[in-house]
Amino acid sequence: MPGVATLLVTLADAAYIDIFSPGHTVAKRVTILGSTGSIGTSTLEVLRSLAPDYQVAGLGAKRRWQELAAQCQEFHPPAVAVADPANAIQIAPFLDSRSELFAGPAGLVELARRSDTDYVVAAIVGAAGLESTVAAVQAGKKVGLANKEALVVAGSIIVPLAARTGAVLLPIDSEHSAVFQSMSAGRRSEVRKIYLTASGGPFRAWSAEQMAGATLQDALRHPTWNMGPKITIDSATMMNKALEIIEARWLFDLPPDSIEVVIHPESIIHSMVEFVDGSVIAQLGSPDMKTPIQYALTCPDRADGCARKLDFSTIRRLNFESPDFDRFPALELGYEVARIGGTAGAVLNAANEEAVEAFRQERIPFGRVVELTREVLDRHNVQAAPDLDALLAADAWARREVAECLKQ
Ligand code: NDP
Ligand code: MG
Repeated sequence: MPGVATLLVTLADAAYIDIFSPGHTVAKRVTILGSTGSIGTSTLEVLRSLAPDYQVAGLGAKRRWQELAAQCQEFHPPAVAVADPANAIQIAPFLDSRSELFAGPAGLVELARRSDTDYVVAAIVGAAGLESTVAAVQAGKKVGLANKEALVVAGSIIVPLAARTGAVLLPIDSEHSAVFQSMSAGRRSEVRKIYLTASGGPFRAWSAEQMAGATLQDALRHPTWNMGPKITIDSATMMNKALEIIEARWLFDLPPDSIEVVIHPESIIHSMVEFVDGSVIAQLGSPDMKTPIQYALTCPDRADGCARKLDFSTIRRLNFESPDFDRFPALELGYEVARIGGTAGAVLNAANEEAVEAFRQERIPFGRVVELTREVLDRHNVQAAPDLDALLAADAWARREVAECLKQ
C-alpha cells in the first residue's frame, strides 16, 4: 500500500501480523463453515460479487440441507460437510460427481483443514463451531472469525496456537472489524482504549420490569441488524456485547479496563479506537454485515462492494449513551469473565447458550436468561490455565448445571 507505513497489528502477545508486507497474499479459495446461516449466506453474496477472483472451496452446515443443496448447485464446492448425518444423505444427489461429502461433526473439522482451502470463514453459531475453528487455526489458515463463542471459550488456546501455526485471525464481527480498521491510524503501542459500540437492542428503552416479561417475538425484533436468532437474543440481553468484550480482549490483547461500551442506537459507527494523543478514529458504514465480511476477505485491499452504502443526506444525527449496567447485568459478566479468564469463558458461554435455548423454547422468561447464567458462573470453581479438554469439560458442566436448574 503506497504511502502507508508498514502496519503492525497485534492480535496477541506473540503474534504480530504484518498484513501490508509484500509477502502477504490475498485469499482466493474460501471455505464457509455455517454457510446456511445469516453470516454464511451474506458471505456467499460477497463471494458472488467478488467472482471470479474468489472461489468457494467448501461449504458446511447442519440442518438446512435444502439451502445447502441450492448453494452447492450454484457454487460447485469440491467439498461439503453436513454435521447432521441424516441430512448428509439427503444432500448427496445434489453434489457434483467429483465433490467430496463429509458427514457428522468430524466432517466440519475435515473441511476446515483441507489443503485446497486458503481461507476459512468460521460462521457456525455457538461452541459447536469451536472444534472446526481450532482445526482451521491448527492448519495455519486465514480465518475470518464470526464465531465469537470460539474465542470466548478458548481464546487462551486459539490465540497462541495461531502464533505457532502462522494462522491469521481476521475479525468479521462488525465492532472488531471496525477496531481492526481504525487501529491502522497509529501504532499498537499508541492505543489507549477502544470503544465497542452497541445498538442497545430492542429493549434499550424498556424498564427492567417490562423486560422481565418480554416475549420471544419482542426479543427477536432487533432495531438495526438482521441476524440469526441466537445472536439476536444475545443482543436483547446485551450478552452479545459481553461476549464481544471477551472477544476483543483476545483479538487485540487488551486489558478489560481498556475496553469501553458505548450505546449508539443508529449502528452507523461500528466501533472506535482512542490513541494516546486523544485522537479517536472510527469506522462508519451502514448496518450490513457484508462490509466487515468483505474486508475480512480482501484486506489489506478493498474491493467494490455489494453492501449498502451510507447516505449522509438521510442521517440526521448520531446519538451516544452510557450503558445501563443495572438493566443489562450481562455487561458486568463480560468484564468479570474477561478479567478472570481460565475456564470462566467456557462456563459463561455454555450457560448462556443453554439459557437462550430454554427461553426460545419458552421454558423460562426473558428475565431469567442472564440470571441463570450468573448463577451457574457463580457456582463454578475456575481453573486458571485449562487445556482444551478442561475447557470442554467446563462447557459440559455448565450445560448440566442449567439443565438441573430447569428441572427445579
Ligand atoms: P445462524 O443461526 O443464522 O447460522 C448458524 C449456522 O451454523 C448455520 O449455517 C447452521 O447450519 C450452522 N450450525 C449450527 N450448529 C451447527 C453444528 N453443530 N455443526 C455445523 N454447523 C452448525 O447464525 P448467525 O449467522 O447469525 O451467526 C453465526 C456466528 O456469527 C455466531 O457466532 C454469531 O455470534 C456471529 N455473528 C453473527 C452476526 C450476524 O449478523 N448474524 C454478526 C456478528 C457475529 P443449519 O442452519 O444448516 O443447521
Ligand atoms: Mg457485533
